[in-house]
Amino acid sequence: MSGVVIVGAGQAGLQCAASLRDGGYHGAIALLGDEPHLPYQRPPLSKAVLLGKQGANEVALRDAAWFTDQRITFHPGLRATGIDRAARRVATARDDMAYDHLVLATGAHARSMVLPGAGRDGVLTLRGLDDALALKAALDAAQHVVVIGGGFIGLEVAAVAARLGRQVAVIESAPRLMARAVSTAMADAFLALHGAHGVTVRLSARVAAIEGAGRADAVRLADGTRLPADLVLLGVGAAPDATLAGAAGLPCPNGISVDADMRTPDARVFAIGDVAWHPNPHAGGHIRLESVQGAIDQAKCAASAILGHAQPYAALPWFWSDQFDAKLQIAGWGAGHDQAVPRGDPASGKFSVFLYRAGRLVAVESVNRAADHMLARRLLAAGRSVPPALASDLSADLKGLAA
Ligand code: FAD
Repeated sequence: MSGVVIVGAGQAGLQCAASLRDGGYHGAIALLGDEPHLPYQRPPLSKAVLLGKQGANEVALRDAAWFTDQRITFHPGLRATGIDRAARRVATARDDMAYDHLVLATGAHARSMVLPGAGRDGVLTLRGLDDALALKAALDAAQHVVVIGGGFIGLEVAAVAARLGRQVAVIESAPRLMARAVSTAMADAFLALHGAHGVTVRLSARVAAIEGAGRADAVRLADGTRLPADLVLLGVGAAPDATLAGAAGLPCPNGISVDADMRTPDARVFAIGDVAWHPNPHAGGHIRLESVQGAIDQAKCAASAILGHAQPYAALPWFWSDQFDAKLQIAGWGAGHDQAVPRGDPASGKFSVFLYRAGRLVAVESVNRAADHMLARRLLAAGRSVPPALASDLSADLKGLAA
């Protein structure tokens, strides 16, 4: 028995190792991570870590002793460089490793931009712990912060920077914020929230160049506007790290293609987490999820399949984002919705938006209404809907519907 080799020691890789042991797997488990750190949580990197409320040593998911206790061999700072599927071996910068099953949990990296000046000092991206520490140091020294990209990470960083008293501008090429992830109603509410905290948001705006003599000192827009910037964050999304799988001949249309058991067309090889292009019953097709919960659920699913009792991945996706005092929680998959029903008044800072596709509830977005979120998770997981008229009626008791 060669055991299981897991490439990528992030949320998904670690969970898979833990679930294999919890499920009674007795063989060897090797977890390879190309970062020098213990596996850690990424959500605090754009929130508490930047605010200085959580230190670098407080984000680890498990301490070193746990790996010893669990007989999981963790290889920090070791990158897998190739896969020989016929020989069932993974090449690394050190020795090759043999596997019975291989789990690819290589995640994603921050997208870069082809843009004049994108390589200047003071232009940063955020994906890993080292990025967050560099960004925090730069934020401490900055006065004018420009965030390119109005998605979750860009907006979370903008919120922190504004809280720290910096002048902040967000440049978004789409006509609204978080366009890929939330409804127009929710995007409008966050536009107002950022505006109320002094963040300048420019929608439908194109960046022409990042200017400066060596170091960035301004961002120039296509309409000629020049925004002062001693710190620029490129927050334009994440791209899956599927190079290893692609080079090994596995199909990678947008991430690594897997079936409902998170298995690639090679029965010995699985892919999970941000890198997995998987069939999602809630989305009605193949997607990649970039969420902690998705990584955890998919890791459990792959572990089950390796343990010989496959349970197809069907868990409800859910996600959260913290910006200023707004906790946004999203249950379900709202892309392609054709009706959005508000519950509560956005101006109150506590409201939800129920999203429907062809008359059926598909997702619920909530701001500071944790009870709505929990209820939505129960309803959607059970395949239940709520009539739109009830959803919008604050006096209606929705709990009965979920019971
Ligand atoms: P990752 O956590 O990216 O781990 C993959 C690991 O594999 C990395 O360490 C990578 O370096 C390593 N690797 C890649 N290639 C190799 C190789 N060849 N050899 C060895 N190692 C390799 N989700 C939420 O639900 N809520 C949030 O609020 C939230 N906030 C976020 C904030 C930030 C700043 C970021 C970056 C993400 C956030 N997410 C959030 C998303 C969530 O963190 C990810 O969905 C989750 O971490 C995905 O886990 P993963 O294991 O698939 O990938």
